[in-house]
Amino acid sequence: MSDLLILNGRVIDPANSLDDARDLLLRDGKIAAIERPGALKSVEAAETIDARGLIVAPGLVDVHVHLREPGQTYKETIATGTAAAAAGGFTTVVAMPNTLPVNDSVEGLQWMLSPDRNPLVNLFAMPAATMGSMGATLTDFAALHAAGALGFTDDGKPVLEDAIMREALISAARLGVPISQHAEDTHLTGGCSMNAGPVAFRLGLRGMTVEAEARIVERDIRLLQEIEKAEGLHPHLHVQHVSTGRALDAIRAARQQGLHVTCEAAPHHFTLTDEAIGDYDTNAKMNPPLRAEADRQAVLAGLADGTVDCIATDHAPHAAHEKEQEFERAPNGITGLETSLGLALRVLHKGQGLSLGRILSLMSAAPAKIVSLPGRGTLAAGSFADIVIFDPAAHWNFAASASRSKSKNTPFDGAAMLGRVKATICEGRIVYRS
Ligand SMILES: [Zn+2]
Repeated sequence: MSDLLILNGRVIDPANSLDDARDLLLRDGKIAAIERPGALKSVEAAETIDARGLIVAPGLVDVHVHLREPGQTYKETIATGTAAAAAGGFTTVVAMPNTLPVNDSVEGLQWMLSPDRNPLVNLFAMPAATMGSMGATLTDFAALHAAGALGFTDDGKPVLEDAIMREALISAARLGVPISQHAEDTHLTGGCSMNAGPVAFRLGLRGMTVEAEARIVERDIRLLQEIEKAEGLHPHLHVQHVSTGRALDAIRAARQQGLHVTCEAAPHHFTLTDEAIGDYDTNAKMNPPLRAEADRQAVLAGLADGTVDCIATDHAPHAAHEKEQEFERAPNGITGLETSLGLALRVLHKGQGLSLGRILSLMSAAPAKIVSLPGRGTLAAGSFADIVIFDPAAHWNFAASASRSKSKNTPFDGAAMLGRVKATICEGRIVYRS
């Protein structure tokens, strides 16, 4: 692979507390050198990128995406989903297991991770915690871990039964990987299609309460306490797409007790409220649902004070004909890979004053740490040459029609974005350029 120089950029590498002018040399898929401006001027490279006025940062990492392959390739494929990732500045994505069939076997995992799927960026996966994500029988954690599983989840559904969740946490702790939990007490959410509150009342829709999310988070934290006491293990619970202040309060308290709890927040939850549903807009339907303003504020506070560890998109493509149904019948989920950075910079940086370093940490170093990906989410010499180069001052509007994703289901069509990706480099290869 030919050498690539990136010169004159402002390099922000939160993993190494770096925010300064640096030049980079990429060689053989790795960062060969990161030096003060001018120090690499005698190096000859096949290609040079002039990053003057731009930010050079670790490639973004998303621990929560749905790529729909196998089984629903009319919505997305691994090739199209990872192309959308590259366009959004992501160099690493972690695929959720709710494919058809569910990714619950070594054969299924190997098929998904095969180079034959043509992923444009680094692809990893979290297989199902239970067979078929039915919540009854654990998958073969040890075999799946040996085949590359970064953790286990039944995402889309919770691991609901106490005994099964306890067993899952214990088995994952022995392997040193997290259980990622979709926190929803489905006993409380049957027939619900949005957040409970005045908007649901006006629309005449059954609403999911804040309690439905918080109860599972609180239960899982109790299990962590019990397991620490009884087994002497230190299990890692990762709470997916946290959307409520009450769940964040529970996570904050658990962390203070020394329990290993991490969590992610999705851009739609820190940007929108349930008012965005307007007149039954199914592109604002997802699970967990858009919440009330008080909960959006709680997510913003969690991002600012460190309770929220990382940003994850929950990229969930659906075909137009599926979203063009009555609200209660339409599937949950929105695309998110191409709008995550633009929303984070607009809402969190410009709107809330979070530093670029903090935001980039939430989108690279922190998620890479949660799923233990050494050499990613950092620009240290010797690490993988996974890099995003973006213009932090560019104002633009996202056009769903221009998306690399096969699906266009987003509430952010036409929405204002801040910061535009200029190039995405994955293990030294330029995989996106605008
Ligand atoms: Zn989920």
